[in-house]
Amino acid sequence: MRKIVIAIDGYSSCGKSTMAKDLARKIGYTYIDTGAMYRAVTCYALQHGLFSDGKIDEKALSQAIDDIHICFCRNAAGQVETCLNGKSVEKEIRGMDVSNHVSQVAALGFVRKAMVRQQQEMGKEKGVVLDGRDIGSVVFPDAELKVFVTASVEVRAKRRLDELVAKGENTTLEEVKKNIQMRDYIDSTRVESPLRKVDDAVVLDNSNMSIEEQDAFLLALYEERVSMF
Ligand code: C5P
Repeated sequence: MRKIVIAIDGYSSCGKSTMAKDLARKIGYTYIDTGAMYRAVTCYALQHGLFSDGKIDEKALSQAIDDIHICFCRNAAGQVETCLNGKSVEKEIRGMDVSNHVSQVAALGFVRKAMVRQQQEMGKEKGVVLDGRDIGSVVFPDAELKVFVTASVEVRAKRRLDELVAKGENTTLEEVKKNIQMRDYIDSTRVESPLRKVDDAVVLDNSNMSIEEQDAFLLALYEERVSMF
């Protein structure tokens, strides 16, 4: 069967990565978490003191961008982890510190250019599921299947809080909700590749759906779409 590219875009914390990962596993595709790549660049900037008063030093980051190497590697337990210059940063990139700075970093043109180039390289043989904000609009505008995911901000904040608490992060529903709203705002109003629903994307509002229901919805879409090629 011909392999296709599956682009899953949408708002922060609406379960894109869960559904993308589940689908990729079921159909034997590679999953690419593009948000993790922007998070890893942000982690680099935080580690190197490139923020002051919450603002990024753009010049210093642009000088360092070619020295920032991100890859996805399997750990001893077989789980995929995001690595920054050869070292796993999987735990750091999921914390609130990175979440509070990432959208500012992801709005920079030179950062997007470097990440998009790597993502296009990773997906050039097809057989990939990517989740992010600009996959269907910029990274793979010719993707055979595009999905735009959304859910109410209350539902998203609650899901994200549960995830963070399970990982031992000390935060509140209010803080998580504020972070989600701030990222949605920056992501959809930035000049470079803003988050938007493209005309040929299928909208999925999963506010009232279980993980099993959303997985089944996505699998059915994939099966229908792949049979057309
Ligand atoms: O998907 P995730 O929430 O991990 O993404 C973190 C941040 O990275 C987003 O809030 C957004 O600012 C940025 N991002 C992006 N383009 C992508 C993926 C993520 O700008 N393709």
